[in-house]
Amino acid sequence: MNQFDVIIVGGGIVGATAACALGRAGVRVAVIEARPPVPVEQQQPDPRVFAITRASERIFRSLGVWEAIAAQDAFAFSDMEVWDARGDGVAHFDCAELGEPYLGHMIEPRIIQTALSGQLESDDNISRFCPARFQSVEIQDENVTVTLEDGQCLTASLLVAADGVRSPVREALGIRTRSHDYNQSSVVALVKTAEPHRDTAWQRFLPGGPLAFLPMQEGWSSIVWTLPTAEAGRIMELDRDAFHEELAAAFAYRLGSVVDSGEREAWPLRRMHAGHYVINRVALIGDAAHAIHPLAGQGVNLGLLDAAALTEVIIAARQGGRDPGALRVLRCYERWRRGDNLLMMSAMDALNRTFSNARSPLGRVRNLGLSLVNGSGLLRQLFMRHAMGLGGDLPSLATVSEEASSSV
Ligand SMILES: Cc1cc2nc3c(=O)[nH]c(=O)nc-3n(C[C@H](O)[C@H](O)[C@H](O)COP(=O)(O)OP(=O)(O)OC[C@H]3O[C@@H](n4cnc5c(N)ncnc54)[C@H](O)[C@@H]3O)c2cc1C
Repeated sequence: MNQFDVIIVGGGIVGATAACALGRAGVRVAVIEARPPVPVEQQQPDPRVFAITRASERIFRSLGVWEAIAAQDAFAFSDMEVWDARGDGVAHFDCAELGEPYLGHMIEPRIIQTALSGQLESDDNISRFCPARFQSVEIQDENVTVTLEDGQCLTASLLVAADGVRSPVREALGIRTRSHDYNQSSVVALVKTAEPHRDTAWQRFLPGGPLAFLPMQEGWSSIVWTLPTAEAGRIMELDRDAFHEELAAAFAYRLGSVVDSGEREAWPLRRMHAGHYVINRVALIGDAAHAIHPLAGQGVNLGLLDAAALTEVIIAARQGGRDPGALRVLRCYERWRRGDNLLMMSAMDALNRTFSNARSPLGRVRNLGLSLVNGSGLLRQLFMRHAMGLGGDLPSLATVSEEASSSV
């Protein structure tokens, strides 16, 4: 009874997306998720909101979950503005320049998760073990066996680890990682400003880290305020009025004063990259494979591209009569995604280092760079395409255009 084609440990956004993509292709999947589901009526607003790229939207559309997401609070943003607190460099990006209606959406993770859960429940090819916790794994020549904390054993030809940055599966298998502590934390919250956000994603680079105001419904914004960790701790302790005043001042009152705010959370930041994404019968996707600085809001978007690429490789192998858990098949996925993810991680690192550096020659480079990008239509368009997730070699789930998928 507990024999599957693929076992996925971690039913977060990335793992659940991979399960949906496999289930609809007729693959028998087991999803193991530790967190019990929260009924919709008991859900609280997420203080942390994700910027979801056009590529991720296309993946959700291809899987038939976008309608359920868009019917909730998905907020489309059309412009981005980035500037340096120590200089006059500024870059403005407008979707109209690409002939696009918007650049991306701001969406609470719980809304995406609920839409994906609905899809998982309605697919007979998918069995959910939730709440259930992965305990150990044993790899044989032809199979992989997973044991849960409650003693159940599941077998499949492939195990997918989508169990987050601390990935118990990756740890159990001894897959090495390279990591770096940024000594920064991001304070996140929903805030309301006196002036309208004009559907624009704003980011001001301060010496301690970037401060982003990302547009939401009814004049609210989702903030991601990255600071040295001790400073983030101090900001978390401020009372509401002091928090509003410091936040508005740090943003140079660009959207006026801050007049209201919700619950605050602080997220410590660490970069992590797994030495291998695959070994025989096992593949890592999402944060289990890589954790990236949140300054461009790319983490879950990269994970969704991993999920789409891996499932495409698995489905093609099955159709060609090949074993989807074999290392030579899984290496196609690793070659496809590892380089792209490394490039994005390195770019975020370089931006964070350049903008969080007080040395004055770098200040001139920063401001010159922003002015160069702002003055060149070609560079602006290149930057926007990457921010929309539409650069690089996209999996086919991310290439279906919005018009084509809505007419299906
Ligand atoms: C401040 C901040 C802002 C961010 N903003 C953005 C953004 O705007 N856009 C963006 O794309 N990304 C953003 N990110 C990145 C994003 O949060 C992550 O990339 C994303 O959550 C990773 O998703 P995942 O499904 O891979 O992992 P997770 O969300 O960590 O899911 C892993 C799942 O595995 C389960 N699990 C763990 N252990 C076990 C076990 N033993 N047994 C069973 N299940 C288990 C967990 O319960 C969890 O559900 C941000 C990150 C931070 C810190």
